[in-house]
Amino acid sequence: MTLDRGATIGIVGGGQLAKMLSVAAQQLGFRIRMLAPPDSDAVGFGVAHEVVEAPYDDRQAFGVFARGCDVITYEFENIPFTVFDGVEVPVRPAPLALRASQDRLVEKAFLQACALRVARYAPVRCVETLDAAREHIPVGRLKTRRLGYDGRGQVVVDRDTSSKAAMEALGGAPAILEECVEFYAETSAVIARGVRGEIAAYDCPRNRHRDGILRSTNFPSPLSHDVQDMAQYSAESVARALGYVGVLAVEFFVLPDQSKLLVANEIAPRVHNTGHWTLDGAATSQFENHIRAIAGWPLGPSERTANVEMVNILGDELSGFRTLLANPVARPYIYGKTSARPGRKMGHVNYVVGSVDKSRFT
Ligand code: AMP
Repeated sequence: MTLDRGATIGIVGGGQLAKMLSVAAQQLGFRIRMLAPPDSDAVGFGVAHEVVEAPYDDRQAFGVFARGCDVITYEFENIPFTVFDGVEVPVRPAPLALRASQDRLVEKAFLQACALRVARYAPVRCVETLDAAREHIPVGRLKTRRLGYDGRGQVVVDRDTSSKAAMEALGGAPAILEECVEFYAETSAVIARGVRGEIAAYDCPRNRHRDGILRSTNFPSPLSHDVQDMAQYSAESVARALGYVGVLAVEFFVLPDQSKLLVANEIAPRVHNTGHWTLDGAATSQFENHIRAIAGWPLGPSERTANVEMVNILGDELSGFRTLLANPVARPYIYGKTSARPGRKMGHVNYVVGSVDKSRFT
């Protein structure tokens, strides 16, 4: 199914990713219908043609939303996938991608089934199962199986941590204990896959996190061609296994020797923060390529055209953003959120620091 110009795209979710998807879609002549819960600070609503304000699990409201759309996509992975049951409009990426990414235990098993390497892990249900898991994984991160993001829902467990305190820190939620990986760098493969299985893969940046939250992505990337190719190839095999249409991100740890055996951390079945640099550093942005893919249109070239450093603006850092306006290489994106909780993503800046050497960096 291919969309005609002027068709209506439904976006589930109303945050900054929905906003940037909507802008890209409107540049291509599409109409946007957006669904987000009340009181969700839905910054995307300001750039949508029609909005439906309802909780994600309100099936009746979802039906009303869906009836006005030619295709439906989503901007985040924690949507109860049963809301898509019986929806007659195509959903891209297919909700199977939500099943594979909403639960860390399912996600790990799925990544392994796609022949990707993951950190050693064990499911944890209670203090006793955590004690048992710690015999094999003495230093690890205890992560809730569901609803963890930006470093939330996880706690480091080392020899000095009591299992009871660790479980309490996560509110007793079902979890996994994951081995702490000693990595040289973090990276991500952001790829777009079209309806005919064609792929547009972006170069892999170096990603830096602080307190579990993405701080910056950088080019030139210090990662070798081999590592980047392996990351892209791995993401492609994940996308193929899911019959995926749209933009997909897979996050990786790169081991100290830059060995090609990357360790996959997680999947995001959507446009991704580590792809924001593409707005100013790639021939086609991740947002435009997601829209092209779900519309059944040809993908745009994903070549990197500039060296970009993307820096997230977190929490109250936005108060100083005016100084950026005089910087000729800074392209600010302010999301328009009303409350600046610590660590909340309020915007980002792409610093375009030079044109790219066509031979690609190592
Ligand atoms: P996550 O929410 O799982 O993506 O974790 C957020 C960040 O925490 C990652 O990008 C890493 O910087 C760090 N982290 C998560 N899991 C591990 C791990 N198993 N070993 C080392 N660092 C980790």
